[in-house]
Amino acid sequence: AKSAGGNRFELADPESDARAITRHGLTTALPAALERGEFFIEYQPLVNLGDGSVRGAEALVRWLHPQHGVLSPDRFIPLAEHTGLIVPLGRWVLEQSVRQARAWRERHGGADALGPLRINVNLSPCQLTHPGLVQDTVDILERTGVEPDALCLEVTESALIGADDDLLKPLRRLAEMGVDIALDDFGTGYSNLANLRRLPVSVLKLDRSFTQSMQQFPADPVDLKIVEGIVSLAHSLDLTVTVEGVETGAQAEQLRILGCDTAQGWYYARPGPPERLHELALVDATG
Ligand code: C2E
Ligand code: CA
Ligand code: CA
Ligand code: CA
Repeated sequence: AKSAGGNRFELADPESDARAITRHGLTTALPAALERGEFFIEYQPLVNLGDGSVRGAEALVRWLHPQHGVLSPDRFIPLAEHTGLIVPLGRWVLEQSVRQARAWRERHGGADALGPLRINVNLSPCQLTHPGLVQDTVDILERTGVEPDALCLEVTESALIGADDDLLKPLRRLAEMGVDIALDDFGTGYSNLANLRRLPVSVLKLDRSFTQSMQQFPADPVDLKIVEGIVSLAHSLDLTVTVEGVETGAQAEQLRILGCDTAQGWYYARPGPPERLHELALVDATG
């Protein structure tokens, strides 16, 4: 609790104090946690809305904290961003995920009927401005022998709002190599739709709020129009549309009718260990 100067007393807020202490504790524990291997990655399938086949997965990092148990990324990613640890942590996530993508490929016998499973990895804004991003990515792809085409980097719409050329340059380099760039949480920011043409992105990930508004049937007509508009604009710019947070079959059906290409959500599978994705993809390929 802070003690107030003067003749006033400030009431302590025990809850916010506890949160601050945990935050501080977690922040200082981050570097050692990375060294000790306390982070792990769960993978959530990305499914083709047309035929239900598994196209790949998004890598989602978790922290198995020795005292607090499994912590979700919302608890520690902002702390890692604040201290700069996100750069080595993000590099670790990228390398693990790309290695995992290669392992899936090998178990599937290469480019068979399944097609190569692709891997989506989240990039935080600090990684975007870090000078090593392109070289680190190239190195990881070379070390693992995974082609750039199999990788999609997800950047939030808000990270690219007002982005100048310096910020976009590394993303352009990666896109030229064949890496896909996805605009994550799309529709929550205030970016100018015309601005999309300037960005080296090939995928729009519609924010979960749009999926949630497809809950009732029929969905809100205004929301339907908005999604319809986004999808047609995206397609006219040669972008694919992925929807996240799909929890029901009705939502999936509605979004499929609206022309969305790929879906992700609990309706298909929760994020899980890498073996789970292999099983899902295999079931899918054999019938
Ligand atoms: P995101 O990139 O928008 O990831 C989607 C989030 O939605 C994930 O939360 C996922 O578990 C959750 N989700 C998936 N399907 C459903 C569903 O059907 N319903 C609902 N309600 N939620 C669903 P998660 O795993 O807690 O990750 C939260 C955020 O943390 C991510 O949001 C992303 O911004 C960030 N994050 C995760 N891993 C990384 C990473 O390796 N690096 C960076 N920089 N950020 C990461
Ligand atoms: Ca994401
Ligand atoms: Ca590509
Ligand atoms: Ca998202």
